[in-house]
Amino acid sequence: MKRIFSGIQPTGEIHLGNYVGAIRNWVYLQDEYDCIFSVVDYHAITIEYPVEEMRKRTLDTAIILLACGLTPERSKIFVQSHVPEHTELAWIFNTVTPIGEVERMTQFKDKARQHRANINMGLMDYPVLQAADILLYKAGYVPVGEDQVQHIELCREVARKFNSRFTPIFPEPEELLSMAPRILGVDGQSKMSKSLGNYIGVLEEDEVVWEKLRTAVTDVNRVRRKDPGNPEVCNIYTIHRAFSDNSMLIEIDRGCTSAGIGCIDCKKMLFENVKRELTPVREKARELERDMDYVVDVLKRGATACSEIADATMEEVRATLGLYSPR
Ligand code: SF4
Repeated sequence: MKRIFSGIQPTGEIHLGNYVGAIRNWVYLQDEYDCIFSVVDYHAITIEYPVEEMRKRTLDTAIILLACGLTPERSKIFVQSHVPEHTELAWIFNTVTPIGEVERMTQFKDKARQHRANINMGLMDYPVLQAADILLYKAGYVPVGEDQVQHIELCREVARKFNSRFTPIFPEPEELLSMAPRILGVDGQSKMSKSLGNYIGVLEEDEVVWEKLRTAVTDVNRVRRKDPGNPEVCNIYTIHRAFSDNSMLIEIDRGCTSAGIGCIDCKKMLFENVKRELTPVREKARELERDMDYVVDVLKRGATACSEIADATMEEVRATLGLYSPR
């Protein structure tokens, strides 16, 4: 069975962008692939974060993954730092990665702009650690959004460099590009993000979700109710595409472009669809919060299974590098 690896950062609030762009897709992929999903806490520490919250954020993220439908029977679910071989392999990959390749990464440049006061080596090395995350398990496929394609290209480059300098042991993974619409934040401008405060959380209460949708930016040229709008430039319509069926999309397109419906009507329809899909997720999350032993056990089992694979890969890597091993 083909293997995939993907990870999610424990940011403290998993939002609709994460859900639509990644997690919902992962749930379906479980039926077709040998899946490994990680809460990537080593990645999360490359920017400033509240240390006292990291443990809770990590467990909360695991709860959401399980509540959304990932299951330990079909996937290995674990916390990245519980398998320290990730960082060991990243260090080894550092020795074959040209520095110019990481310097030109768009995400590094963006993050360096956002975190000017803390442009650290980890921030720059992020895609090399990502390559290690994937190649430690010799995953052939990586489900990603458009913004991560450059990192997967770098991962292939790292695999090629290693394979040609030493022994060819790593595959060159391919991206499984998500077909999900790219949801912006409620400001209608930037990618939905916890740090920008423009997000709708998967576990937020209905009243909070409605308030965020009610005040969300729509087509900025539709100023009055009688003005026709353009769904193609409206983020509410983009979110509809992720939660509403085709007949509703047609109804909204017609109603919007003819000014037959108002934005509040449109948002109410969206709210009902989001609520219908996320209420069971929220209920499952509450159930899991009352059964933390189960959640911890899932993560332990995931780490044990992943450690076995990681251990075998690192034995092979160390031998390939000519490192002395007493075993
Ligand atoms: S009616 Fe809907 S799609 Fe049209 S501008 Fe308003 S919110 Fe956007």
